[in-house]
Amino acid sequence: RGTLYIVATPIGNMDDLSPRAVKVLSSVAVIAAEDTRHSGRLLQHIGISKPLIALHDHNERGRVQNILEQLLAGADVALISDAGTPLISDPGYVLVREARAEGLRVSPIPGPCALVAALSAAGLPTDRFLFVGFLPAKGAGRRTALEELRKEVATLVFYESPHRILNTVADIAEVMGAQREIVLGREITKAFETFYSGTAADVHATLTDDPHGSRGEFVVMVRGAEKAEAGLMAGELDVDHLLGLLMAELP
Ligand code: SAM
Repeated sequence: RGTLYIVATPIGNMDDLSPRAVKVLSSVAVIAAEDTRHSGRLLQHIGISKPLIALHDHNERGRVQNILEQLLAGADVALISDAGTPLISDPGYVLVREARAEGLRVSPIPGPCALVAALSAAGLPTDRFLFVGFLPAKGAGRRTALEELRKEVATLVFYESPHRILNTVADIAEVMGAQREIVLGREITKAFETFYSGTAADVHATLTDDPHGSRGEFVVMVRGAEKAEAGLMAGELDVDHLLGLLMAELP
């Protein structure tokens, strides 16, 4: 029985492809890729020519059977996505789930991931974070989603596309407060890598002023709500505070 390798590929800088990723991609019988044309170019760049199977969100269920059959017949298979780590806002969940259900070996070949790269350099708390993937594309849905996250104390991390970034930052300012601290990681590992940080209002102004500000790919990070604020907003009883007041009254 073969092994399914989940292989991370660069998010912009080709030098980030690990030697181990190259070794595994060279050794497998088949490579399942989100976009075979895009991945064909990556493989050409490293001099690898392999049969490719397209596995994207719209055909994943159909293709999984075929890939499982190859694994069960003893072929090793690698899964890659267009950029970064497969399954992180990318296809592969059904394949990994079914492969595990069959008792097949699934092994990660770790490497670039935009959310981890962004968090590692943002200067926001990373002891607890909540990755939310992409927010809803439409304004009303996006604001509802943000409203639900307003009291979250963990650092929030979103992926966003360039044509929505300004509206998303405006919605964060509106729903979570203009003073909420945010950091945007743009074009990470690429030539125009930029980190924008400050209050939601400041970052919105900076992006609006920068003619290239809303070009490229973005990771949006939002500092979590302050604990006290989260409690008050939730209308919860602050037991410690109350006990303190009562204790002060005791003889
Ligand atoms: N699987 C990928 C990963 O491991 O990060 C993410 C794929 S998701 C479809 C694409 C989104 O990731 C983009 O819209 C953007 O939000 C983020 N992203 C990918 N590459 C990036 C980069 N170089 N700089 C900033 N954000 C990036």
